[in-house]
Amino acid sequence: MNAPAHPIEQLTAELADLDWITDEGRVGRLSQDFNWYSPVLKRQLEGKRAAAAVRPRNEDEIKRLVSLCARLRVPITVRGSGTGNYGQAVPLQGGVLLDMSGYNAFLWAKGGIARAQAGIRLWDLEKECKPHGLELRCMPSTYRSATLGGLFGGGFGGVGSINYGPLGSRGNVLGIRAMSIEEEPQIVELRGPDALAMHHVWGTNGLVLELEFAMAPVHDWMEAIVTFGSFDTALDFCDALSRSAGILKKEVAMLAAPIPDHIKQLADYLPTGCHASIVLVAEESEAAFLELVTQFGGTVSYRKTAAEVAASNRTLLEYTWNHTTLHAMRVDKNLTYLQSAFTAGQHLEQVRTMEKLLGGEVMMHTEFIRNMDGLMTCTALQLVKFSTEERLNEIMQIHRDNGVRINDPHVFIVEDGRANGELPAAVLATKRRFDPHNLLNPGKVRTWARGIPQ
Ligand SMILES: Cc1cc2nc3c(=O)[nH]c(=O)nc-3n(C[C@H](O)[C@H](O)[C@H](O)COP(=O)(O)OP(=O)(O)OC[C@H]3O[C@@H](n4cnc5c(N)ncnc54)[C@H](O)[C@@H]3O)c2cc1C
Repeated sequence: MNAPAHPIEQLTAELADLDWITDEGRVGRLSQDFNWYSPVLKRQLEGKRAAAAVRPRNEDEIKRLVSLCARLRVPITVRGSGTGNYGQAVPLQGGVLLDMSGYNAFLWAKGGIARAQAGIRLWDLEKECKPHGLELRCMPSTYRSATLGGLFGGGFGGVGSINYGPLGSRGNVLGIRAMSIEEEPQIVELRGPDALAMHHVWGTNGLVLELEFAMAPVHDWMEAIVTFGSFDTALDFCDALSRSAGILKKEVAMLAAPIPDHIKQLADYLPTGCHASIVLVAEESEAAFLELVTQFGGTVSYRKTAAEVAASNRTLLEYTWNHTTLHAMRVDKNLTYLQSAFTAGQHLEQVRTMEKLLGGEVMMHTEFIRNMDGLMTCTALQLVKFSTEERLNEIMQIHRDNGVRINDPHVFIVEDGRANGELPAAVLATKRRFDPHNLLNPGKVRTWARGIPQ
């Protein structure tokens, strides 16, 4: 008698018409993301991989795959473009890597709203939306490659959050179409808060097929670098710009010294030892922006109009958010980073305190945004000179002790990355409904490892 086929062999045989990837090297590469930013995660997640990857092209293929995985109890890890930072799309328990990048149709844009399939790249979505006068309200600096489903499943926000807050702010995500992981997969439209129960839980409680986002009106954004001789002045300038209601902006970042010295591609515009601000303001706001630069004694070392940016295909956005970290790590492999959120109203004081306490070991990179309550504040993706895991934990604790929220980027358990260490009841209820066999990205949620609470 023949031994029963391995479930993966059964899957590839029964669904032979799907686009399977079984080559070990390719599956290994697809199974990893940018978790190597963290020396802790790099050690913990090295070698973790799926048994096979599959790239479905339509809903019927996704449905047949999910149905058979549910019957055979094979884990499924959903992947967009794999640009996540915490091993979000790294399979811990083998199984199938479900690559959504082939499920990428733009569906429609009207009345300030757009809808698309989850695997569409944000760059392509923007290209489709521009003729309708629309652009994304907020997006990661990886928008060239990141997918809409990946932004929803793993992202926070980023460029544009200075106007619209994080992606999870009420009104940004309007609805999703999601599939349950069952022998008979159910396809359901979730609206508003019900949809947000699947946001930023790393594809652990539902498979998202389509997303509907509220969009922003398109503007011609000019890009600039402003340099300063003093940390305090650079910070005050960014704060003043963030609060200048009449100046339309999309991005305000501060890279404190010595971070600019690490950004080799922009070395011509970043004098050694400077503190720099990277900004995007609407072209009609340029005069008011320049008045503010003069008021704070800054120097505009780089300026490109929207047309020049489009023609050059080079944008300063790819030097902000976690791209800053990437460029700096290319120069100094010993660096890692933090993710922190300052308290609105106390944020400048907190930034200065942390700079006094940890400057030299921790380099300040702040991003100005509106928080979930709509208040202007800043978050930070500080660069850290890594010595030991103990010291890294100590540094994060020093932040917490000073009232700074840490969203720990050195953990792969969803709860551990949250400041309160918990998942809301609605997230768990959604898990029970959409993934009753606990097959989605298993091992990432502690609550479910203990047994799904009823
Ligand atoms: C250089 C750099 C800069 C970055 N800047 C930012 C930033 O500014 N802001 C920010 O928020 N993030 C940032 N990130 C993180 C990441 O790029 C974004 O979160 C991005 O949106 C992820 O998209 P992706 O398609 O690569 O998702 P992936 O990494 O493939 O997936 C992310 C998570 O979403 C889940 N997922 C993907 N598709 C689906 C789906 N259809 N249904 C259910 N779950 C799904 C996956 O399982 C995974 O857990 C950055 C990362 C890097 C490396």
